[in-house]
Amino acid sequence: MMLRKCLFCLADGACEIRFDRKGRPYVVCQVCHTRSFLRSMEAIRGLAICPTLLAAAIQRRTEEPEFRKWFDGEITKTIASLTERSLASPARDAESALSQQKPVPFSINSGSGSA
Ligand SMILES: [Zn+2]
Repeated sequence: MMLRKCLFCLADGACEIRFDRKGRPYVVCQVCHTRSFLRSMEAIRGLAICPTLLAAAIQRRTEEPEFRKWFDGEITKTIASLTERSLASPARDAESALSQQKPVPFSINSGSGSA
């Protein structure tokens, strides 16, 4: 099936859309080996839009030093945060999750991008 930019490792043409035994779509990356199961139509929205936006962002990164600094910084910050959280106790992690707001799905009928 169609190969796309991986939303996780950002490799070009590495992610394949497959279907499980029940006909539900999932993506698997040939580079980072991430498998992502798409259990709702909301998940298809990101799959449709994100590879194109990522390609534009990666191109912009090569042209604009400030954007490159932000882009690389976001990756570095996220890796550091996840590394820290992976070393945290499960109780502290659960406490942190409870204090967060409930996420709101994107709405195609909203100008702001959220419901
Ligand atoms: Zn990947």
